[in-house]
Amino acid sequence: MPAEPPSHLTPEEFRAAGHATIDWIVDYLAGIEGQPVSPGVQPGQVRASLPDTVPETGEPFADLLADVERLIAPGITQWQHPGFYGYFPGNSSPPAVLGELLSAGFGVQGMLWSTSPACTELESHVLDLLIDLCGLPDRFRSDGPGGGVIQDSASSASLCAVLAARDRAGGAAALPDLRVYTSSQSHSSIEKDVLVAGFGADQLRSIDTDDDYAMDPVALRVAVEADVAAGLIPCLVVATVGTTSSGAFDPLPEIAEVATAAGAWLHVDAAWAGSAAVCPEYRGMLAGLEHADSYVFNPHKWLLTNFDCSAFFIADRKPLLNSLSVLPEYLRNTVSDSGDVIDYRDWQVPLGRRFRSLKLWFVLRSYGVEGLRAHIRHHVEAAERLTGRISSNPRLRLAAPVSLALLCFSHVDGDAAGEELLAALNATGEVLLTHTRLSDRHVLRVAIGGSRTTSDHVDRLADLLDELA
Ligand SMILES: *Cc1c(COP(=O)(O)O)cnc(C)c1O
Repeated sequence: MPAEPPSHLTPEEFRAAGHATIDWIVDYLAGIEGQPVSPGVQPGQVRASLPDTVPETGEPFADLLADVERLIAPGITQWQHPGFYGYFPGNSSPPAVLGELLSAGFGVQGMLWSTSPACTELESHVLDLLIDLCGLPDRFRSDGPGGGVIQDSASSASLCAVLAARDRAGGAAALPDLRVYTSSQSHSSIEKDVLVAGFGADQLRSIDTDDDYAMDPVALRVAVEADVAAGLIPCLVVATVGTTSSGAFDPLPEIAEVATAAGAWLHVDAAWAGSAAVCPEYRGMLAGLEHADSYVFNPHKWLLTNFDCSAFFIADRKPLLNSLSVLPEYLRNTVSDSGDVIDYRDWQVPLGRRFRSLKLWFVLRSYGVEGLRAHIRHHVEAAERLTGRISSNPRLRLAAPVSLALLCFSHVDGDAAGEELLAALNATGEVLLTHTRLSDRHVLRVAIGGSRTTSDHVDRLADLLDELA
């Protein structure tokens, strides 16, 4: 038996490999525009190219990086390509990557305050900074009954809201009588979360939208009142600010009135649009948020921070902790027992958690308020220009009001022509768009928001639309 573990990379080898890796990333990003956005590989092709055993003895790091270049990079969908307009783009940036790297270097697991005090305290601090940065209600601050937490995804954050709302309204005993309300345009994660939380599909009420795809608050009121009259308990209303299909803003003040009157939890999902609140001129979409019990938005979508980084805020942490605190003996410690600290394990479904706040902190400090606002504004302005180009193209028709930097349009010749146009655009390799359906029509979506997407790139997309539509 060796007395010490076999030496692996020496510190100097690690340093050199690290420098080489950063060099590789910088070169990759510098050359990304020369790559097709979609990799064009067949199912199974990447896997078939990979070495199929773990080597008996370790390989030099240079070989691993070479295989990333040779085998992995060609199978990547280039989310950081400036022509990526699909779904909602996922942001990344140099400070975020470096923050992520430091997090990996620390290798801490921040389930309890005591398992890494700085991991917990930086997270609380950065989320309070987001409240100032985005003009969010003070009730979400960590020095009151509420507070913020970083989750892996908006789906997980919304699940926490569903669980807290369910239990506040009576939990398992009341479950059969509880009802949840969200619009027919809300994200699929809401339906999934409700099912995971033990509700039946029929306990989720899908509320109609108006002509602009925003929740109709009158339809909400009618549904809630009918359920109350039938002896049921409305426990949760989920409103969306910036729906996934078309970017519609549900009217929060009217929805909050209905939720409050019924004693229901109000959760607001602004996964994508929430980042735009760094600009004061876009904060109107969040009017009424001061009545919400919880709120989520994803810096990993549009705030220059790489996945995963979802900011979840809650006005009163007690119901959440009641739902999620299960304390085994092996996690007990004096400082937690004193109640003086936050243990974020109780604010999420998993026990373990990554040190995610570092990358967000780096982004906020590295860009500053001005830099973050410029990022959003540039995309919104590019969307306005593209709107002009699409409006003047007789073969295209806007399918919904343009929302921030999301445009939805269809082909005047119908669904088949729209599908052909989408395929032709994506076949250029210069851009990637995705589609949705609105009012049962095929709709192309352009979500402008990539970290590297500029108005020049969007102008190029407009030219492609003129050529190919
Ligand atoms: C993207 C999106 C989600 C899901 O986000 P994840 O972080 O991937 O779970 C939820 N809601 C809305 C409105 C979204 O746009």
